[in-house]
Amino acid sequence: GDLEGHNEMMENWSSLAGTSSGSGMPLLVQRTISRQIEILHEIGKGRYGTVMLGKWREEKVALKIFNSSDEESWFRETEIYQTVLLRHDNILGFIAADISGAGSWTQLFLITEYHKHGSLYYYLQNRAINIAEALKLAYTACCGLAHLHTEIAGTQGKPAIAHRDVKSQNILVKLDGQCCIADMGLAVCFSRLHETIDVGKHDRSRRQGTKRYMSPEVLAQSFHPDSFEAYKASDVYSFALVLWEIINRTEVNGFANDYHLPYHDVVGNDPDFDEMRKIVVLENLRPEIYKQWQAHKIMSTYTTTLQECWSPRPESRLSMLRLRKTLYFLLNGGRGPVEAGSSESDRKPSASSSS
Ligand code: ADP
Ligand code: MG
Ligand code: MG
Repeated sequence: GDLEGHNEMMENWSSLAGTSSGSGMPLLVQRTISRQIEILHEIGKGRYGTVMLGKWREEKVALKIFNSSDEESWFRETEIYQTVLLRHDNILGFIAADISGAGSWTQLFLITEYHKHGSLYYYLQNRAINIAEALKLAYTACCGLAHLHTEIAGTQGKPAIAHRDVKSQNILVKLDGQCCIADMGLAVCFSRLHETIDVGKHDRSRRQGTKRYMSPEVLAQSFHPDSFEAYKASDVYSFALVLWEIINRTEVNGFANDYHLPYHDVVGNDPDFDEMRKIVVLENLRPEIYKQWQAHKIMSTYTTTLQECWSPRPESRLSMLRLRKTLYFLLNGGRGPVEAGSSESDRKPSASSSS
């Protein structure tokens, strides 16, 4: 019963939550991280629990507290954050997972870096942004998602990961204006080496994610759960809606709209599956595109690009990697003749551009 050598996370957790610590130390003497955090106040609420601002060793951290009935989601999110090579500037920084108490008093925690601006959803509600800010938010969020989607082959490699709940509430804004991807509770993994899709303990056939952001194929129930490409393409669709939320709040030619959720004009606050299916699949509606965007040199490309990403046909959407290249190009002033949907080549705008 030595803690060392145990790889199975659950075994560690259950020994921490039980009567003995497993390390020979009596439990009461052991103060695990969640007990060292001074809780300040609530900063967010999602489907699975409450997020609190906490102070740990003079540093601010975010403490996500899961309802004990959502152990599955806590376990999955912890597992994903601990994936080899996941760390990235544009993925929320994981600090620790913890359990306190036992039995019906059990509480499950996820401790991550704290970002004062909160979610992109909240950020956009509070301010209109300029084009440079918009492109930085869009590009950096895309970098995070592209990193998730990319498999890194190797003995210590990283599987490809699809998020499955991409939306502005699950993307955080950092102080420097970059985004990072959060809320990994529904993610699925794929590794070519094993040729298997790992969905955790989730029931594959169950419809997942937030209804408003569900892709047409998920809504039409024509989604192929055995193809990993299908999960990635669904993420791209949801991210296109986020790209729309960003540009909708961007001042283009002197005018910015108020903040709106995608499809705010055609569905209510909490649309159900059939409502979403009706407008997205049957009527093939998408959020409104404004003339002033199409009249702007850079933002017109941004607009046509995001429209490609919300195509009803998953195979017509750009990959996250291709989208990242286009956004990088736009962020750099749109120099050079790259068009959305052009070849996969690794062209970058040259520094010594001959404009
Ligand atoms: P859920 O799985 O319940 O949806 P999330 O992880 O999405 O939980 O967190 C819920 C909300 O809490 C987010 O939308 C965001 O507003 C806020 N939040 C989460 N993590 C952080 C963080 N690290 N820093 C600041 N705000 C956060
Ligand atoms: Mg969330
Ligand atoms: Mg979640």
